[in-house]
Amino acid sequence: MARWCYVRCLPQIPGFGLESHNATGSTDQCIASTDSRSVLTNLKTPGMTQSPQRFNFTRRQSASNTTPRQINRNLVFNLIRIHQPLSRADIARISGLQRSTVSLIVEDLIKEHWIVEGATAKLPRGRRPILLQLNNQRAVIAVDVHPLRTTVAVTDIGGRILAQNLVPLQENSAKAIHAITSAVKKLMAANSDKSFDGIGISLPGRMDRSLQKPVFAPNLNWSALGLKSRMQRATGLRVEMDNVANACALSEVWFGESDGAHDLVVVNVSEGIGTGIFANGHLLRGEDGMAGEFGHVQVEPNGLRCGCGSHGCWETTASNRAGLRYFQEISGSEPPKTFDALIKMAQDGDPSALAAIERMAHALGRGLNMITSALAPSEIVVVGEVTMAWYLFNPSVQAEMKQNPMAHTPKVRPSLEGNTARLRSAVALVMNEDPA
Ligand SMILES: [Zn+2]
Repeated sequence: MARWCYVRCLPQIPGFGLESHNATGSTDQCIASTDSRSVLTNLKTPGMTQSPQRFNFTRRQSASNTTPRQINRNLVFNLIRIHQPLSRADIARISGLQRSTVSLIVEDLIKEHWIVEGATAKLPRGRRPILLQLNNQRAVIAVDVHPLRTTVAVTDIGGRILAQNLVPLQENSAKAIHAITSAVKKLMAANSDKSFDGIGISLPGRMDRSLQKPVFAPNLNWSALGLKSRMQRATGLRVEMDNVANACALSEVWFGESDGAHDLVVVNVSEGIGTGIFANGHLLRGEDGMAGEFGHVQVEPNGLRCGCGSHGCWETTASNRAGLRYFQEISGSEPPKTFDALIKMAQDGDPSALAAIERMAHALGRGLNMITSALAPSEIVVVGEVTMAWYLFNPSVQAEMKQNPMAHTPKVRPSLEGNTARLRSAVALVMNEDPA
């Protein structure tokens, strides 16, 4: 089944340029800026069927396996997704495509129920064009499996979170899989007016995509083996499961500022550290899906034992667990129960918490240097609880990265999605055209 890929738009199309889209409303041509967004009709489409063809969300596409028609279809869909509501004329103007081409593609997308017609634009003169938007009756179930808890959510196909629930940590695998599956079924029942496109599960571990099973999840104290098949049986929906850092890399390209036109690395700092690598318009997975395990590169040969069985891995020095441990070592007292609480203490000026975070940030920066030397990405995006107070981490991270003798230093920034990045990454898995 073809699905969406992540290239948003295509710079090689003459006249294309999102910068020409005036979102401030200063000209009457920019109809996306009108206030008609709020009055768009919420169309229910009973009995609609799911389209087998999805989209490509990144800006690069291979001409060898993508027809011009598919490329144009992706372009039109992504313009609507990012800048909705838009009229056909607006799409033609922004993309440089012929009006007739835009109309044909739009008709197809409406027929397939990906988009709907809404209100008419308010223009000072002339005919009022009909505005187009994503069909908000289509929805996705997103599941963020975290070592300490799991979050399940319903989102629309634009990734907007409509409802979410927490599933507490369970004592064993059978109970965890049962609890997560039940929570998903409850959410689906509570949103029965939606048509679900699938379930995306982001996992703190690596997936072997040929075997369709998790192969390496040292920080998860229950086995996720069987979660995917159980979820498929329980819901009848297509289920996509992948490593959380990989999913976040796709999500950054789709939801974030990164457009897929350059190489980026996502670093997920949690109970451990995972990285997702997006290069040349694709995720880098490596043999058995194990690419990007920088978290388990040994940085202290005599360091602490790691969940992977080795000692002194980068994640033993720079993960949330390391931050809590540093607090204990510095203060001589029990650390707070959660990493969130440690951040709060630091924000309130607790000297031990601030020192613990500084030590953790230096370790984080040293690891980012390792990634920079290995991959020379143009951007590193950090995901996880550290993004709640990145200003506390950034000075020490930057100080470490300035030590790197390599000429190229990537931009390092927290994910724009903050704490919802992992959840929305699960949506990206469902909408992705080519997860392989
Ligand atoms: Zn390790």
